[in-house]
Amino acid sequence: MRVPLLDLREQFAGLKDEILKEIGEVCDSQMFILGKKVEKLESEINEYCGTKYSCGVTSGSDALIIALMVEGIGAGDEVITTPFTFFATVGAIARVGATPVFADIDPATFNIDPLKIEEKITKKTKAIIPVHLFGQCADMDKINAIAAKHNLIVIEDACQAIGSEYRSRRAGSMGHYGCFSFFPSKNLGCFGDGGIVTTNDAERYEKLKIFRNHGQGAHYIHKYIGGNFRLDSLQAAILSIKLRELDKWTEGRQRNAAIYTRLFAASKLGGRVTPPALADFPGRHIYNQYCILVADGRRNELKQYLTDNGVGCNVYYPLCLHEQECFRSLGYKKGDFPVSEKTSEEILALPIYPELQTEQLEYVVSTIEKALC
Ligand SMILES: *Cc1c(COP(=O)(O)O)cnc(C)c1O
Repeated sequence: MRVPLLDLREQFAGLKDEILKEIGEVCDSQMFILGKKVEKLESEINEYCGTKYSCGVTSGSDALIIALMVEGIGAGDEVITTPFTFFATVGAIARVGATPVFADIDPATFNIDPLKIEEKITKKTKAIIPVHLFGQCADMDKINAIAAKHNLIVIEDACQAIGSEYRSRRAGSMGHYGCFSFFPSKNLGCFGDGGIVTTNDAERYEKLKIFRNHGQGAHYIHKYIGGNFRLDSLQAAILSIKLRELDKWTEGRQRNAAIYTRLFAASKLGGRVTPPALADFPGRHIYNQYCILVADGRRNELKQYLTDNGVGCNVYYPLCLHEQECFRSLGYKKGDFPVSEKTSEEILALPIYPELQTEQLEYVVSTIEKALC
């Protein structure tokens, strides 16, 4: 049996006629940048995320960069975030010239630990970027309380978390900004790069729109130095079609997660494998990834065994950001963030996409049992 980590072909087959028709319409109009399709997507995303305003941009990475730019965050400023995330979170901070400052994660959720944030705040701190990793929201009540107390901006990195909830509030609606990615392998993916920034603040929204178009207010009159962060009409048109299916896909991912958890509990694996712990999480996990922890230093061995036996799997992320060569000048060393480092050694993502069949999930767990027991 073969169980790929992700296969989007079945999803596309079901929507192919509708998507090709929309692509044809955009081509007939010869309007490719921003425009009505992007505006339509922006209002649909507002409805979906429970936000007032959205600004379609070129990628999730640029969503983070433009939010930092609108706040005027740059050289001499510090931004607190997690060392256990995709590179772009930290790359965005460095790209605007600010200094990333790390706080370790909670071992149960893999998200930034609010108890470790306050000790990192200095006079230079301007913002916190919590990441809703793998589709599960960070502890936003506590993070927002710390931010309010110290007058900091909160930029949610919701690139893996569209539709995820924390106490019934959607990802992207809780901070000053929410940043989303439509990279093809995200839960809502387009056919190239794309992203969106959400906000509930009218002034920030007006600035976002100006910054995404080279800081241009009126034609050729530049109020700020922005950039080309504009979303394509084609991508927006495709995303509008796919957004209608998103809750159905999320239910499929949640169903698969529940099946995995039941199969692990019934297996002989015991403490060798720890599935995601959700008992105390007050929200909706959308499972951009379903990640297990593998004990006894056997993660790499298991990854190889699964790969050899037709099961796709991957490590997100094998090296924490504070250990990356490009951030050496920040002065961190191995051992500084023990929870993140331990997680990066033990974590393994398993196939979770909605079209998987129960027999495939059974095969994944029985193969893990063969490898480790
Ligand atoms: C994917 C991702 C990004 C970047 O999104 P792109 O659209 O690929 O630029 C940023 N942060 C996190 C946590 C991501 O998973």
